[in-house]
Amino acid sequence: MYRYNVQLKDYNSFRTEAVAKIFCEPDNIEDLRQCIADHPDLPKLVLGKGRNLFFTKDFDGLVIKPKTYGIREVPDDSDDSEHVFIEAKAAEDWDDFVRFCVDRGYSGLENLSYIPGTVGAAPIQNIGAYGSEVKDSIYEVVALDMDTLEVVSFSNEECAFGYRDSIFKRKRKYIIISVVFLLKRSYHYVPRYADLMRELENVENPSLQEVRDAVIRIRQRKLPDENTLPNCGSFFKNPYIETDKAEQIKAVYPDLPVYPVEGGLIKTSAAFLIDKAGFKGKQRGQIGTYPKQALIVVNYGSTDGNEIVSFMHEIQAAVNEKFGIQLEPEVRIL
Ligand SMILES: Cc1cc2nc3c(=O)[nH]c(=O)nc-3n(C[C@H](O)[C@H](O)[C@H](O)COP(=O)(O)OP(=O)(O)OC[C@H]3O[C@@H](n4cnc5c(N)ncnc54)[C@H](O)[C@@H]3O)c2cc1C
Repeated sequence: MYRYNVQLKDYNSFRTEAVAKIFCEPDNIEDLRQCIADHPDLPKLVLGKGRNLFFTKDFDGLVIKPKTYGIREVPDDSDDSEHVFIEAKAAEDWDDFVRFCVDRGYSGLENLSYIPGTVGAAPIQNIGAYGSEVKDSIYEVVALDMDTLEVVSFSNEECAFGYRDSIFKRKRKYIIISVVFLLKRSYHYVPRYADLMRELENVENPSLQEVRDAVIRIRQRKLPDENTLPNCGSFFKNPYIETDKAEQIKAVYPDLPVYPVEGGLIKTSAAFLIDKAGFKGKQRGQIGTYPKQALIVVNYGSTDGNEIVSFMHEIQAAVNEKFGIQLEPEVRIL
């Protein structure tokens, strides 16, 4: 069941090198429990496809990569004919799962098409794109509590989802085993997100499949493929700032993107700030920002995660100096 001294380069999409002391891939709950019970004192890292994390040093602990697969429609005795419950196990590929739903005409996840990763990781940072967040379609998350070895269910509310945030990200003691989604059996396109509206401007009343295809086309055009140019997607979270600060910046840069959010704050674009701080397409050694999208840090060939961290610090310092805003990484650094 265990492998020792495992190289993690192929398990993170920045492709940095690090060695895991112990590595296991349990394919059922009993084995998952056993892995944890066998190593009570070791630090533990749960791994999906490594599309949102990278390593700066060896991991002196137990890496657990759940291998549980399966997608099923959950029987529903209620007389709700508009919705459907679909359960997907943690190791399922996220985009295969979205395709499964779209093929059946079930809507809710189509704007999240083509996000790399697993179903089990989707709730962790409440993945989002094109005006949608996965929290809007999650009914329940089932997880193993690593402290008690009990299986626990979280309602949507109990997941405490926020922008790129959830209870699972804050507590790091749950291994997600499966996620139950509540989707609609029908679809009605609502134009909400500018990029998507542009892509679909010549399509009258787009179908679910047409929206998924449009999202995939935009993503393929705009984002680097992590399999050929190592990256983790957006490196930083979009910052929430005070209205005064937004107005100050807007006085100099009238095109600053601003979206009012909860608590009277303004969400702005990290990509815009990085670009204006002079870092779009900039490179230091083998690390740089993607020339087409300043928010994406790309690795042109380094195996050392510390080079990515140094570049991150440089970007943070430049943005802080210019705008007085501290960017926070969205990516997990280990
Ligand atoms: C090119 C590119 C584009 C991207 N675009 C987007 C985007 O549009 N929107 C977006 O939100 N993200 C995006 N991302 C980030 C990434 O795709 C998501 O965060 C995805 O959910 C990561 O899945 P993963 O399986 O690779 O998780 P990993 O990177 O393996 O893990 C991510 C986090 O989840 C934890 N985790 C993983 N599986 C489990 C589990 N079963 N139980 C408990 N914890 C677990 C890990 O410990 C880690 O903290 C992008 C990444 C890339 C490379």
